[in-house]
Amino acid sequence: MTPPKERIETVVVDGLGLAQSIRKELREAIEHEKLAGRRPPCLAVVLVGDDSASAVYIKGKRRACARIGMDSAEHRLPESTPQATLLSLIDKLNRDDGVDGILVQLPLPGAISPWVIAEAIDPDKDADGVHPLNAGRLLAGTADLVACTPLGILEVLDRYDVELEGAEAVVIGRSDIVGKPVSILLQQRNATVTLCHSRTRDLAGVCRRADVLIAATGRPRMVRGDWIKPGAIVIDVGVSEVDGELVGDVAFDEAQGVARLITPSRRGIGPMTITMLLRNTLHAYRAQTKAGG
Ligand code: NDP
Repeated sequence: MTPPKERIETVVVDGLGLAQSIRKELREAIEHEKLAGRRPPCLAVVLVGDDSASAVYIKGKRRACARIGMDSAEHRLPESTPQATLLSLIDKLNRDDGVDGILVQLPLPGAISPWVIAEAIDPDKDADGVHPLNAGRLLAGTADLVACTPLGILEVLDRYDVELEGAEAVVIGRSDIVGKPVSILLQQRNATVTLCHSRTRDLAGVCRRADVLIAATGRPRMVRGDWIKPGAIVIDVGVSEVDGELVGDVAFDEAQGVARLITPSRRGIGPMTITMLLRNTLHAYRAQTKAGG
């Protein structure tokens, strides 16, 4: 007779609580700058077009800035904006000494290339870590500004004391903003990383090997409970709307009792991503104004 499977106590990550405690540290750092007579950091956010989800994201990011005493400026351009007009706005922001970080909200209208735009942002003001120079520095292990979601994931793993040295890490999704950079960061922390994508054979079998499983596909509940190795750490980055409900890439209920740690689709990686945007902007501010420590 096979023994009954041991049910594991699954800890659900409190991404919001963690984000709030880091934001408190950031708020104190900015307060320190102001007390020293310096201006606060400023993030410029650019929104092109009328995508309603993007407008909500921008609002959330600006609110997060305000709550820690960081300035933000919003630049809205119509859907029909030519790429050249957006490039001149970016050039203006690059040369503005009062702007420390620049974020261009994605997705952009089809006529504008996100790669051309990413390349136009001053790498020292690249709060979202999307400039190719920063991506290259990430490979070299010398980047100050790294994409926000991967940074947020690493922060969760560290603050929950997840051992990465020698761990089998499986990342599903190879986007430039999540999958690729997080796989580099994990590899730099001495995890053995497998990067999966839509052509991966036997994805479930690969996932079952993972001590740390990171899902970033946008495919709702794709990762089933029996894809998870008992005791694994599961980071669910995906956010999809299904029947008016926000769901992740992982079948959350099935992961209960199997995973040791899991991030929920709400209040998980999302608040950490915004927090890393704030932290990147503070880094950029310090580097440019030579302020703080
Ligand atoms: P992309 O659409 O850019 O990339 C998706 C990746 O998933 C691709 O590499 C694709 O493979 C892979 N993929 C798609 N379907 C499958 C499949 N069936 N099996 C294996 N791999 C698959 O997505 P993003 O990285 O931008 O975002 C991923 C998810 O994370 C989205 O839901 C997004 O909303 C969410 N997100 C959440 C954030 C947060 O703060 N919480 C921040 C950023 C993203 P291939 O390359 O072969 O096409």
